[in-house]
Amino acid sequence: MSDKSAAKNDTKKRKRINVRKPDVMAKVEAEVSNHYKSSVVEKLRELGGEITLGNTKIILAQQFGFCYGVERAIDLAYASRKVFEDNPIYLIGEIIHNPEVNRQLKDMDIVSLPWEQMNEQYDALTENDVVIVPAFGAPTSFIDKIEERGASIVDTTCGDVMKVWRRVRTYAKEGYTSIIHGKADHEETLATASHALGKEKNGHYLIILTLEDTDFVCSYINGEISDETFMTRFGDKNVSPGFIPSIHLQQVGVANQTTMLKSETEEIQRRIAKTITNRDGSPENCQIFDTICGATQERQDALFEMLKNPMDMLLVVGGYNSSNTTHLVEIGQEELPTFFIRDATCIESIEKIIHFDLEQKSEITSNYNNLLDQDKPVVVGVTAGASCPNNLIENTILRVCELRGIAKTEILSQ
Ligand code: SF4
Repeated sequence: MSDKSAAKNDTKKRKRINVRKPDVMAKVEAEVSNHYKSSVVEKLRELGGEITLGNTKIILAQQFGFCYGVERAIDLAYASRKVFEDNPIYLIGEIIHNPEVNRQLKDMDIVSLPWEQMNEQYDALTENDVVIVPAFGAPTSFIDKIEERGASIVDTTCGDVMKVWRRVRTYAKEGYTSIIHGKADHEETLATASHALGKEKNGHYLIILTLEDTDFVCSYINGEISDETFMTRFGDKNVSPGFIPSIHLQQVGVANQTTMLKSETEEIQRRIAKTITNRDGSPENCQIFDTICGATQERQDALFEMLKNPMDMLLVVGGYNSSNTTHLVEIGQEELPTFFIRDATCIESIEKIIHFDLEQKSEITSNYNNLLDQDKPVVVGVTAGASCPNNLIENTILRVCELRGIAKTEILSQ
């Protein structure tokens, strides 16, 4: 390569753009607040999270909805359109897992690119284009490709996700295989897996999701399962290229997708650490690092707290592909009738709720009669995942109130 072309390539690399300019952010703040704010949610906060109107009581979790990482990602996406008024702007997949927020970005002419695999749209990027990296990050190969094409990058990856990346890169550097507790088809886990290969791309990872997966790995470490059976269970999708269990499970480091169920992650860590310690007579070949993010933990803890109240039903509002929301649903359904709804329109009528069923992985319709009789007292709990805006929470509360014959003004006048 000539000096000239090397220099040209250098200029093509690393066009990361900071769109956080004070004048831009002032406008963004006003716009975001206008799109997603809620007077009803603010009122409930002011009332300590509870309101009783006649014989209807609504309890809102103490922590719910947008987290700092999501707020930042949305702000940066909105700011991108303001800074690059006339440039084509693309987004890798979805900015966060919420259809309403993604729809708003689409309305701003921000075009979604595929996130599972790069296609010819990535090859066609030019220096005039801007690409937004979502809050969950993106695999290193995607970033390399965008940099190679010379497009500008607005990186909204959450700091908590980057903390996990630093951890798995350290594992790779020290020769430890990353065992990642996460969903193999989730954007964040795919990105984390790419970082687990390390700088030299010679690191390894194994992605596990359940306690059954964990026990299977532990059985392998205990010598009870063959390499072939192991690889048949996990396949190519869950392991790094060239993964050989007999070699790459000698030294392991556990990390997790930031939005997993905390209690499950802790149990996975405990079982793996115990198995390695039993095998080697010492824990030194197993490193543990809790990478559940603060916002996920706070929302889970707040729900556990809320569940101490007697309640008739729980509504969990959020995108069906949102990992942290899914775990709130799992916590709720252990205790009481819990409905995972996309938005208020899912509460179709006084006795008909359309909601996402975690087992069937699709929407189902349930008849729910507790709201039916307005003379019968009812207590409704409401919470929402970290990617759910307040206006959707407000609409849900108002829909319940409407079915119980309560007007919005009655809430706001409390
Ligand atoms: S859920 Fe956690 S990791 Fe994800 S964006 Fe929010 S703060 Fe960051």
